[in-house]
Amino acid sequence: MARITLDNLRHSYMPAPKGPEDYALKQIDLDWQDGGAYALLGPSGCGKSTLLNIVSGLLTPSGGRILFDGRDITDLPPDQRNIAQVFQFPVIYDTMTVYDNLAFPLRNRGVVQSVVDARVREIAAMLELDDLLGRRAAGLPPDAKQKISMGRGLVREDVNVIMFDEPLTVIDPHLKWKLRSKLKELHHRVRATMIYVTHDQTEALTFADRVVVMDDGIIVQIGTPVELFERPAHTFVGHFIGSPGMNVIPCSLDGGRAIVEGIAIETDNAPAEATGRTEIGVRPEFVSLASSGIPARIVRVADAGRHRIVEAEVAGARVHAVVGEGVDVPDGPAHLAFTPTMTRVYADGWLVGGAQ
Ligand code: ADP
Ligand code: MG
Repeated sequence: MARITLDNLRHSYMPAPKGPEDYALKQIDLDWQDGGAYALLGPSGCGKSTLLNIVSGLLTPSGGRILFDGRDITDLPPDQRNIAQVFQFPVIYDTMTVYDNLAFPLRNRGVVQSVVDARVREIAAMLELDDLLGRRAAGLPPDAKQKISMGRGLVREDVNVIMFDEPLTVIDPHLKWKLRSKLKELHHRVRATMIYVTHDQTEALTFADRVVVMDDGIIVQIGTPVELFERPAHTFVGHFIGSPGMNVIPCSLDGGRAIVEGIAIETDNAPAEATGRTEIGVRPEFVSLASSGIPARIVRVADAGRHRIVEAEVAGARVHAVVGEGVDVPDGPAHLAFTPTMTRVYADGWLVGGAQ
């Protein structure tokens, strides 16, 4: 296992990139600690696979360095990096049995047969492939093939890092949940550094101890699931994580107070002034109905089981509130209150004062 450092990494697929818009990765600086469970979370096209393929050596970056335990491995070919990578779609040998597929990465490195056998059976049991060990892979359904693919990634114990690139795409929903918790369990057992790439916040937050959130070729925040929820460093993080996402309301600043249509709103971090576009960010969980406060108009109420999601209009912006059972929700005109310690000012998207 190893600590992985990405130092000023950039990548463009174009032969002669000009501006930042020509780069799939604009600038990435990152430290993945030895033994950590990480998720790389971001929308489709933000550069997740590009980043993973640079770490595994399938792609050579346009600039910057990759270090394993402080050693520069940027020019090392993939087979010398000692990495296991599981892709979105199964990569297996169709003509081999399930057993031989799982054994392959070990036999390939000359592991003795008794160890191979023990390891194959352990991984097969974990992935519930034990009944299929003697079957040829060719005739199996896509999710079984993907489980074999994952098994091939997990079978070796001596890898620097195991990377999963949206591995559950072809797996059906009930098995998804199960495999995700198995991966988590496995991480606790083997303590391998694992990097799990996904565009799905639930997958990222349930698997990872720390989540790296990406957007448009940059890292917008690295944090624990709680940190990403409680203190989004960027309105993008606030919006992308959470259901519904963080409310974002345009505001102006006046002497250390945030002003929305003439109403002063108490926040955690309002500076005296800020440059750029200023907005208030507050999660629906920290918005409540009040008898006085911020004037609003209720436009919709949706039942979400244990609570309701109230949609209101405040100064032309849509604001969601999570409201518990037993609270009277008026029709039309109402007032809202924002929890001041959880209400923050953002300038040009970024949290004023930083995330720490
Ligand atoms: P993600 O995995 O987050 O969906 P990717 O890393 O695959 O994102 O892609 C990042 C950006 O790079 C996208 O704009 C995508 O169109 C572009 N891209 C990815 N692979 C290639 C390629 N082989 N050639 C040219 N552009 C590519
Ligand atoms: Mg991808």
